[in-house]
Amino acid sequence: MILSNQKKIPINLYLANPRGFCAGVDRAIKMVEESLKIFGKPVYVRHEIVHNPYVVNKLKKMGAIFVDELDEIPNNKHPVIFSAHGVPKSVPKKAKEKKLNFFDATCPLVSKIHREIEFFNKKNYEIILIGHKNHPEVIGTIGQIENKKIHLVENLSDAKKLKVKNKNHLAYITQTTLSFDDTSEIIQILKKRFPNINEPKKDDICYATTNRQEAIKKLAKICDHIVIIGAYNSSNSLRLVEVAKKNGCKNSILIESHKNFRWDNIKENINIGISASASAPEELITDFIIELKKKFSVNSIEDNSIKENVIFNIPNHLKKIS
Ligand code: SF4
Repeated sequence: MILSNQKKIPINLYLANPRGFCAGVDRAIKMVEESLKIFGKPVYVRHEIVHNPYVVNKLKKMGAIFVDELDEIPNNKHPVIFSAHGVPKSVPKKAKEKKLNFFDATCPLVSKIHREIEFFNKKNYEIILIGHKNHPEVIGTIGQIENKKIHLVENLSDAKKLKVKNKNHLAYITQTTLSFDDTSEIIQILKKRFPNINEPKKDDICYATTNRQEAIKKLAKICDHIVIIGAYNSSNSLRLVEVAKKNGCKNSILIESHKNFRWDNIKENINIGISASASAPEELITDFIIELKKKFSVNSIEDNSIKENVIFNIPNHLKKIS
């Protein structure tokens, strides 16, 4: 806010680091952009390529058409891309039947979980999936194996109540974008109840989710207010808000862009923290900061202690023809 003598109110802005796009999201968006360059308009995309309306609208303007199901694609003249969240096996099967030219933008870290569920299924384990019902990643993971009941555990209460057929022939896997701390508590309960349960070789919660949550935990201890930029249907955005609140910053909110922010909540000398979920582009953070600086005298502070250098290349068959 600007005071009557035109002096702006001073505030401290803590920028979370890392924040914003992860390697899987970056790769999925590049796959749509490259396909548009190679094949021209339109390129079909099954489901939101990543959970972010800004990204989806930008790609729509470039010529992408988003569909819920393959049946909505009128012919096989244009390619279709599957989203970063992964798809059930029935989707590429149907694409082949329809002779569609398809590219799979499933994040390699989600594909890793697909291979895990197949592995546990081959061993005939009873499988527990820790994740959120109806999330596209969960639907895609369950859809890797057919005709088998998976136990979906969404919270501590589900873990405590879970009934299994054979407690000595069990395995669990998790969704990639859960709260690291909440999931650890669920896993502890499962391990206590079923000491012989098999687990994935490496954590399923991905590096990007973990790092963004660790960065927010640090900010939650020093900030009066935390703003997460992301989408309301994005699991990793919602988890960042929960993590901020759980670690001491009750005034934590999720917004899609600076246009949704109530600036009158900002008081003099406040410490405000900002981050963006793994599917939110840096432009949205930049726009927020530009607006903030118009209204306040901003002292920006950035923690660079966690470095990320993960890159997932787009598939060779898409690169070769580019
Ligand atoms: S959040 Fe993790 S699993 Fe999801 S796309 Fe990004 S890197 Fe992959």
